[in-house]
Amino acid sequence: MTSDMIDAVNSLAAIGKGDGSFAIESTQVRAPLGNEVRVRMAAAGICHTDHQSLSWEGPLVLGHEGAGWVESIGPEVSGLAIGQPVLLNWAIPCGHCAQCLQTHGHLCDRTQGLSTESPSVDSPHTHWRNQSVRRSFNLGTFSEYTLVRAEALTPLPTHQNMAHACILGCAVMTGVGSVINSAKVQPGDSVVALGCGGVGLSVIQGARIAGASTIIALDKRSESLARASAMGATHTWQIAEEDATLEAAVTHVRSLTQGRGADYAFEATGRHSLAFAPLKFIRHGGTALQLSGAHGEVSASMFDFWWDKRYLTPLYGGCHPSRDFPKLLNWIDQGQLDVASMVTRQYTLSQLPDAINDMLAGVNIKGVIVFHEINK
Ligand SMILES: [Zn+2]
Ligand SMILES: [Zn+2]
Repeated sequence: MTSDMIDAVNSLAAIGKGDGSFAIESTQVRAPLGNEVRVRMAAAGICHTDHQSLSWEGPLVLGHEGAGWVESIGPEVSGLAIGQPVLLNWAIPCGHCAQCLQTHGHLCDRTQGLSTESPSVDSPHTHWRNQSVRRSFNLGTFSEYTLVRAEALTPLPTHQNMAHACILGCAVMTGVGSVINSAKVQPGDSVVALGCGGVGLSVIQGARIAGASTIIALDKRSESLARASAMGATHTWQIAEEDATLEAAVTHVRSLTQGRGADYAFEATGRHSLAFAPLKFIRHGGTALQLSGAHGEVSASMFDFWWDKRYLTPLYGGCHPSRDFPKLLNWIDQGQLDVASMVTRQYTLSQLPDAINDMLAGVNIKGVIVFHEINK
Protein backbone atom coordinates (compact mmCIF):
# COMPACT_ATOMS: atom_id res chain seq x y z
CA MET A 1 0.00 0.00 0.00
CA THR A 2 1.35 3.44 -0.88
CA SER A 3 1.64 6.25 1.65
CA ASP A 4 -1.33 7.89 -0.15
CA MET A 5 -3.52 5.20 1.30
CA ILE A 6 -2.78 5.94 4.93
CA ASP A 7 -5.41 4.80 7.42
CA ALA A 8 -7.20 2.90 4.69
CA VAL A 9 -9.95 0.42 5.56
CA ASN A 10 -10.51 -2.84 3.74
CA SER A 11 -13.78 -2.85 1.86
CA LEU A 12 -15.44 -5.60 -0.16
CA ALA A 13 -16.70 -4.01 -3.37
CA ALA A 14 -18.21 -4.91 -6.73
CA ILE A 15 -15.58 -4.12 -9.36
CA GLY A 16 -16.69 -3.74 -12.97
CA LYS A 17 -13.93 -4.93 -15.28
CA GLY A 18 -15.04 -2.87 -18.29
CA ASP A 19 -15.91 -5.89 -20.42
CA GLY A 20 -19.39 -6.56 -19.03
CA SER A 21 -18.11 -8.69 -16.16
CA PHE A 22 -17.71 -7.86 -12.49
CA ALA A 23 -16.51 -9.52 -9.29
CA ILE A 24 -16.78 -8.91 -5.55
CA GLU A 25 -13.24 -8.20 -4.43
CA SER A 26 -11.25 -6.57 -1.66
CA THR A 27 -10.43 -2.85 -2.00
CA GLN A 28 -8.82 -0.29 0.30
CA VAL A 29 -10.54 3.05 0.95
CA ARG A 30 -8.30 5.71 2.45
CA ALA A 31 -9.09 8.10 5.30
CA PRO A 32 -10.82 11.40 4.42
CA LEU A 33 -8.86 14.59 3.74
CA GLY A 34 -10.12 18.15 3.30
CA ASN A 35 -13.85 18.18 2.68
CA GLU A 36 -14.20 14.42 2.32
CA VAL A 37 -16.26 11.92 4.27
CA ARG A 38 -15.80 8.17 4.53
CA VAL A 39 -19.17 6.43 4.66
CA ARG A 40 -19.89 2.92 5.94
CA MET A 41 -22.60 1.75 3.59
CA ALA A 42 -25.90 0.42 4.92
CA ALA A 43 -27.84 -0.17 1.71
CA ALA A 44 -27.55 0.49 -2.01
CA GLY A 45 -30.25 0.50 -4.70
CA ILE A 46 -29.75 -1.27 -8.01
CA CYS A 47 -30.63 0.55 -11.20
CA HIS A 48 -30.47 -0.10 -14.95
CA THR A 49 -27.59 2.35 -15.15
CA ASP A 50 -25.56 -0.09 -13.05
CA HIS A 51 -26.05 -2.72 -15.72
CA GLN A 52 -24.97 -0.22 -18.39
CA SER A 53 -21.93 0.73 -16.29
CA LEU A 54 -20.57 -2.81 -16.67
CA SER A 55 -19.36 -1.77 -20.12
CA TRP A 56 -17.89 1.55 -18.98
CA GLU A 57 -14.13 1.77 -18.80
CA GLY A 58 -12.87 -0.41 -15.94
CA PRO A 59 -11.85 -1.09 -13.34
CA LEU A 60 -14.77 0.70 -11.70
CA VAL A 61 -16.41 0.40 -8.28
CA LEU A 62 -20.07 -0.07 -9.22
CA GLY A 63 -23.19 1.55 -7.74
CA HIS A 64 -24.55 5.09 -7.54
CA GLU A 65 -27.49 4.94 -5.09
CA GLY A 66 -27.07 4.38 -1.39
CA ALA A 67 -27.38 5.26 2.26
CA GLY A 68 -24.95 4.71 5.11
CA TRP A 69 -23.34 6.19 8.20
CA VAL A 70 -20.57 8.78 8.46
CA GLU A 71 -17.55 6.74 9.56
CA SER A 72 -14.88 9.48 9.55
CA ILE A 73 -14.59 13.08 8.35
CA GLY A 74 -11.92 15.33 6.90
CA PRO A 75 -10.78 18.45 8.81
CA GLU A 76 -12.79 20.85 6.62
CA VAL A 77 -16.14 19.08 6.98
CA SER A 78 -18.78 20.91 8.96
CA GLY A 79 -22.31 19.90 9.89
CA LEU A 80 -21.76 16.14 9.83
CA ALA A 81 -20.89 14.01 12.86
CA ILE A 82 -19.50 10.48 13.08
CA GLY A 83 -22.39 8.00 13.05
CA GLN A 84 -24.81 10.34 11.28
CA PRO A 85 -27.02 8.43 8.78
CA VAL A 86 -26.68 9.93 5.31
CA LEU A 87 -28.14 9.59 1.83
CA LEU A 88 -25.68 9.59 -1.07
CA ASN A 89 -26.46 11.64 -4.16
CA TRP A 90 -24.82 11.02 -7.54
CA ALA A 91 -25.34 14.49 -9.04
CA ILE A 92 -22.92 16.18 -6.68
CA PRO A 93 -23.33 19.96 -6.66
CA CYS A 94 -20.33 22.22 -6.04
CA GLY A 95 -22.62 24.78 -4.41
CA HIS A 96 -20.90 27.79 -5.99
CA CYS A 97 -21.29 27.77 -9.79
CA ALA A 98 -24.02 29.64 -11.68
CA GLN A 99 -26.19 26.52 -11.96
CA CYS A 100 -25.88 25.64 -8.27
CA LEU A 101 -26.65 29.21 -7.20
CA GLN A 102 -29.87 29.04 -9.23
CA THR A 103 -30.95 25.78 -7.50
CA HIS A 104 -29.98 23.72 -10.54
CA GLY A 105 -27.48 21.61 -8.60
CA HIS A 106 -28.15 18.60 -10.85
CA LEU A 107 -26.66 20.60 -13.75
CA CYS A 108 -23.61 21.79 -11.76
CA ASP A 109 -21.04 23.16 -14.18
CA ARG A 110 -18.18 21.63 -12.22
CA THR A 111 -19.43 18.14 -11.49
CA GLN A 112 -20.68 16.79 -14.77
CA GLY A 113 -18.15 13.98 -15.05
CA LEU A 114 -20.15 10.77 -14.84
CA SER A 115 -17.47 8.45 -13.61
CA THR A 116 -14.06 10.02 -13.84
CA GLU A 117 -13.91 12.91 -11.43
CA SER A 118 -11.63 12.74 -8.43
CA PRO A 119 -12.79 13.68 -4.96
CA SER A 120 -12.00 17.08 -3.52
CA VAL A 121 -8.30 16.50 -3.05
CA ASP A 122 -5.87 15.11 -5.56
CA SER A 123 -5.13 11.79 -3.94
CA PRO A 124 -6.25 8.29 -4.88
CA HIS A 125 -9.31 7.36 -2.85
CA THR A 126 -9.71 3.65 -3.51
CA HIS A 127 -7.19 0.96 -4.36
CA TRP A 128 -7.90 -2.37 -5.94
CA ARG A 129 -5.00 -4.76 -6.51
CA ASN A 130 -2.61 -1.91 -5.62
CA GLN A 131 -3.89 0.42 -8.29
CA SER A 132 -6.19 3.44 -8.02
CA VAL A 133 -9.70 2.62 -9.17
CA ARG A 134 -12.55 4.93 -10.21
CA ARG A 135 -16.07 4.81 -8.79
CA SER A 136 -19.40 5.00 -10.60
CA PHE A 137 -20.60 8.64 -10.47
CA ASN A 138 -17.80 9.37 -7.96
CA LEU A 139 -19.68 7.27 -5.39
CA GLY A 140 -19.27 3.52 -5.91
CA THR A 141 -22.00 2.44 -3.51
CA PHE A 142 -21.64 -1.33 -4.07
CA SER A 143 -18.86 -1.27 -1.51
CA GLU A 144 -18.75 -1.63 2.27
CA TYR A 145 -17.08 1.79 2.50
CA THR A 146 -16.80 4.75 0.16
CA LEU A 147 -15.02 8.09 0.31
CA VAL A 148 -17.00 11.05 -1.06
CA ARG A 149 -17.12 14.82 -1.01
CA ALA A 150 -19.34 16.15 1.78
CA GLU A 151 -21.56 17.79 -0.86
CA ALA A 152 -22.66 14.33 -1.97
CA LEU A 153 -24.37 13.68 1.37
CA THR A 154 -27.75 14.59 2.81
CA PRO A 155 -28.36 13.79 6.50
CA LEU A 156 -31.09 11.21 7.10
CA PRO A 157 -33.28 11.20 10.22
CA THR A 158 -32.34 8.22 12.41
CA HIS A 159 -35.87 6.77 12.17
CA GLN A 160 -35.70 6.37 8.37
CA ASN A 161 -35.28 2.81 7.16
CA MET A 162 -32.00 2.95 5.23
CA ALA A 163 -32.96 0.05 2.94
CA HIS A 164 -35.94 2.08 1.77
CA ALA A 165 -34.46 5.58 1.86
CA CYS A 166 -31.46 4.52 -0.23
CA ILE A 167 -33.61 4.52 -3.40
CA LEU A 168 -34.50 8.20 -3.03
CA GLY A 169 -31.25 9.16 -4.74
CA CYS A 170 -32.16 7.92 -8.22
CA ALA A 171 -35.52 6.49 -9.39
CA VAL A 172 -37.69 8.26 -6.82
CA MET A 173 -35.99 11.63 -7.27
CA THR A 174 -36.18 11.28 -11.05
CA GLY A 175 -39.89 10.43 -11.10
CA VAL A 176 -41.23 12.66 -8.35
CA GLY A 177 -38.86 15.52 -9.22
CA SER A 178 -39.83 15.49 -12.89
CA VAL A 179 -43.46 15.98 -11.84
CA ILE A 180 -42.87 18.59 -9.14
CA ASN A 181 -39.79 20.49 -10.36
CA SER A 182 -39.71 20.04 -14.15
CA ALA A 183 -43.38 19.79 -15.20
CA LYS A 184 -44.70 21.66 -12.14
CA VAL A 185 -47.96 19.69 -12.22
CA GLN A 186 -50.81 21.54 -10.49
CA PRO A 187 -53.99 20.38 -8.70
CA GLY A 188 -56.61 19.24 -11.21
CA ASP A 189 -54.12 18.49 -14.01
CA SER A 190 -54.18 15.29 -16.06
CA VAL A 191 -51.07 13.12 -16.25
CA VAL A 192 -50.05 10.06 -18.27
CA ALA A 193 -47.27 7.73 -17.09
CA LEU A 194 -45.96 5.55 -19.91
CA GLY A 195 -44.12 2.71 -18.16
CA CYS A 196 -44.70 1.71 -14.53
CA GLY A 197 -41.31 0.58 -13.19
CA GLY A 198 -39.50 2.40 -10.38
CA VAL A 199 -39.42 5.75 -12.21
CA GLY A 200 -42.99 5.50 -13.58
CA LEU A 201 -44.42 4.59 -10.16
CA SER A 202 -42.56 7.58 -8.74
CA VAL A 203 -44.17 9.77 -11.42
CA ILE A 204 -47.57 8.43 -10.36
CA GLN A 205 -46.87 9.14 -6.69
CA GLY A 206 -45.57 12.61 -7.51
CA ALA A 207 -48.67 13.35 -9.57
CA ARG A 208 -50.92 12.21 -6.71
CA ILE A 209 -48.97 14.39 -4.24
CA ALA A 210 -49.23 17.35 -6.66
CA GLY A 211 -53.02 16.93 -6.72
CA ALA A 212 -53.45 15.75 -10.32
CA SER A 213 -57.08 14.65 -10.73
CA THR A 214 -56.52 12.25 -13.62
CA ILE A 215 -53.48 9.93 -13.49
CA ILE A 216 -53.40 7.40 -16.30
CA ALA A 217 -50.92 4.51 -16.04
CA LEU A 218 -49.89 2.69 -19.23
CA ASP A 219 -47.85 -0.52 -19.25
CA LYS A 220 -47.72 -3.90 -20.94
CA ARG A 221 -47.68 -5.83 -17.65
CA SER A 222 -50.85 -6.23 -15.62
CA GLU A 223 -48.88 -6.59 -12.35
CA SER A 224 -47.22 -3.21 -12.99
CA LEU A 225 -50.64 -1.65 -13.51
CA ALA A 226 -51.89 -3.15 -10.24
CA ARG A 227 -48.95 -1.49 -8.47
CA ALA A 228 -49.74 1.77 -10.29
CA SER A 229 -53.32 1.70 -8.98
CA ALA A 230 -52.09 1.09 -5.45
CA MET A 231 -49.77 4.10 -5.70
CA GLY A 232 -52.30 6.57 -7.03
CA ALA A 233 -53.19 5.97 -10.67
CA THR A 234 -56.85 6.81 -11.26
CA HIS A 235 -56.97 4.84 -14.53
CA THR A 236 -54.88 2.04 -16.02
CA TRP A 237 -54.55 0.70 -19.55
CA GLN A 238 -52.69 -2.41 -20.55
CA ILE A 239 -50.82 -1.82 -23.80
CA ALA A 240 -51.39 -4.78 -26.10
CA GLU A 241 -48.35 -6.41 -27.71
CA GLU A 242 -49.81 -5.65 -31.15
CA ASP A 243 -50.33 -1.94 -30.34
CA ALA A 244 -46.78 -1.08 -31.42
CA THR A 245 -47.74 2.43 -32.55
CA LEU A 246 -49.66 3.00 -29.27
CA GLU A 247 -52.72 3.96 -31.30
CA ALA A 248 -55.18 2.16 -29.03
CA ALA A 249 -53.51 3.61 -25.93
CA VAL A 250 -53.73 7.15 -27.40
CA THR A 251 -57.43 6.65 -28.21
CA HIS A 252 -58.05 5.49 -24.65
CA VAL A 253 -56.20 8.45 -23.11
CA ARG A 254 -58.24 10.83 -25.28
CA SER A 255 -61.45 9.17 -24.09
CA LEU A 256 -60.44 9.96 -20.50
CA THR A 257 -59.51 13.59 -21.24
CA GLN A 258 -62.55 14.97 -23.09
CA GLY A 259 -60.97 14.01 -26.40
CA ARG A 260 -58.14 16.49 -25.88
CA GLY A 261 -55.16 14.54 -24.57
CA ALA A 262 -53.50 14.95 -21.19
CA ASP A 263 -51.81 18.06 -19.81
CA TYR A 264 -48.60 16.08 -19.18
CA ALA A 265 -47.19 12.75 -20.34
CA PHE A 266 -44.06 11.16 -18.86
CA GLU A 267 -42.10 8.46 -20.67
CA ALA A 268 -40.42 6.08 -18.19
CA THR A 269 -40.01 2.87 -20.16
CA GLY A 270 -36.22 2.81 -20.49
CA ARG A 271 -36.76 2.14 -24.20
CA HIS A 272 -35.05 4.75 -26.33
CA SER A 273 -37.31 4.05 -29.30
CA LEU A 274 -40.20 5.50 -27.27
CA ALA A 275 -38.43 8.79 -26.57
CA PHE A 276 -41.00 10.86 -28.49
CA ALA A 277 -44.03 8.71 -27.61
CA PRO A 278 -45.25 10.96 -24.77
CA LEU A 279 -46.00 13.68 -27.37
CA LYS A 280 -48.85 11.50 -28.69
CA PHE A 281 -50.71 11.56 -25.38
CA ILE A 282 -50.80 15.31 -24.69
CA ARG A 283 -53.18 18.08 -25.71
CA HIS A 284 -52.23 21.16 -27.72
CA GLY A 285 -49.98 23.22 -25.48
CA GLY A 286 -49.29 20.21 -23.24
CA THR A 287 -45.90 19.02 -22.04
CA ALA A 288 -44.15 15.74 -22.87
CA LEU A 289 -41.27 14.60 -20.68
CA GLN A 290 -38.79 11.86 -21.53
CA LEU A 291 -37.23 10.37 -18.40
CA SER A 292 -35.26 7.43 -19.81
CA GLY A 293 -32.16 9.43 -20.71
CA ALA A 294 -32.64 8.30 -24.31
CA HIS A 295 -29.61 8.71 -26.54
CA GLY A 296 -28.68 7.87 -30.09
CA GLU A 297 -30.89 8.59 -33.04
CA VAL A 298 -34.65 8.32 -32.74
CA SER A 299 -36.98 9.58 -35.46
CA ALA A 300 -40.29 11.33 -34.88
CA SER A 301 -43.18 12.66 -36.94
CA MET A 302 -43.50 16.43 -36.71
CA PHE A 303 -47.27 15.87 -36.51
CA ASP A 304 -46.68 14.67 -32.98
CA PHE A 305 -45.43 18.16 -32.05
CA TRP A 306 -48.59 19.95 -33.21
CA TRP A 307 -49.36 22.42 -31.65
CA ASP A 308 -47.50 24.47 -29.07
CA LYS A 309 -46.26 21.34 -27.34
CA ARG A 310 -43.25 21.40 -25.03
CA TYR A 311 -40.76 18.52 -24.92
CA LEU A 312 -38.45 18.22 -21.92
CA THR A 313 -35.64 15.82 -21.03
CA PRO A 314 -35.23 16.40 -17.29
CA LEU A 315 -32.06 15.11 -15.67
CA TYR A 316 -32.63 13.48 -12.29
CA GLY A 317 -35.92 15.31 -11.73
CA GLY A 318 -34.16 18.68 -11.45
CA CYS A 319 -32.68 17.52 -8.13
CA HIS A 320 -31.43 20.24 -5.83
CA PRO A 321 -30.48 18.07 -2.85
CA SER A 322 -30.86 20.52 0.04
CA ARG A 323 -34.33 21.50 -1.20
CA ASP A 324 -35.66 18.19 -2.48
CA PHE A 325 -34.47 15.38 -0.20
CA PRO A 326 -35.93 16.92 2.99
CA LYS A 327 -39.20 17.32 1.06
CA LEU A 328 -39.21 13.66 -0.02
CA LEU A 329 -38.34 12.50 3.51
CA ASN A 330 -41.18 14.58 4.89
CA TRP A 331 -43.62 13.01 2.44
CA ILE A 332 -42.46 9.57 3.56
CA ASP A 333 -43.10 10.51 7.19
CA GLN A 334 -46.55 11.84 6.32
CA GLY A 335 -47.44 8.62 4.50
CA GLN A 336 -47.74 10.39 1.15
CA LEU A 337 -44.71 8.84 -0.51
CA ASP A 338 -44.47 5.05 -0.28
CA VAL A 339 -40.90 3.90 -0.88
CA ALA A 340 -41.19 0.79 1.32
CA SER A 341 -43.50 -0.92 -1.18
CA MET A 342 -41.09 -0.09 -4.00
CA VAL A 343 -38.25 -2.12 -2.45
CA THR A 344 -39.51 -5.56 -3.40
CA ARG A 345 -36.38 -7.55 -2.57
CA GLN A 346 -33.20 -7.17 -0.54
CA TYR A 347 -29.91 -8.89 -1.42
CA THR A 348 -26.46 -9.30 0.11
CA LEU A 349 -23.49 -7.90 -1.83
CA SER A 350 -22.50 -11.42 -2.90
CA GLN A 351 -25.98 -11.85 -4.41
CA LEU A 352 -25.41 -8.95 -6.81
CA PRO A 353 -25.44 -11.23 -9.88
CA ASP A 354 -28.94 -12.44 -8.90
CA ALA A 355 -30.01 -8.88 -8.20
CA ILE A 356 -28.95 -7.71 -11.66
CA ASN A 357 -30.59 -10.69 -13.35
CA ASP A 358 -33.82 -10.04 -11.45
CA MET A 359 -33.73 -6.40 -12.51
CA LEU A 360 -33.25 -7.33 -16.17
CA ALA A 361 -36.15 -9.79 -15.89
CA GLY A 362 -38.39 -7.07 -14.42
CA VAL A 363 -38.99 -9.06 -11.21
CA ASN A 364 -38.62 -6.12 -8.81
CA ILE A 365 -39.75 -2.52 -8.68
CA LYS A 366 -36.43 -1.89 -6.93
CA GLY A 367 -33.88 -4.36 -5.61
CA VAL A 368 -31.59 -3.19 -2.80
CA ILE A 369 -28.28 -4.51 -1.47
CA VAL A 370 -28.13 -4.48 2.32
CA PHE A 371 -24.64 -4.48 3.84
CA HIS A 372 -25.37 -4.58 7.56
CA GLU A 373 -28.15 -5.24 10.00
CA ILE A 374 -30.10 -2.03 9.82
CA ASN A 375 -33.07 -0.48 11.48
CA LYS A 376 -36.46 -2.00 10.65
ZN1 LIG B 1 -29.84 5.01 -10.96
ZN1 LIG C 1 -22.00 23.82 -9.17
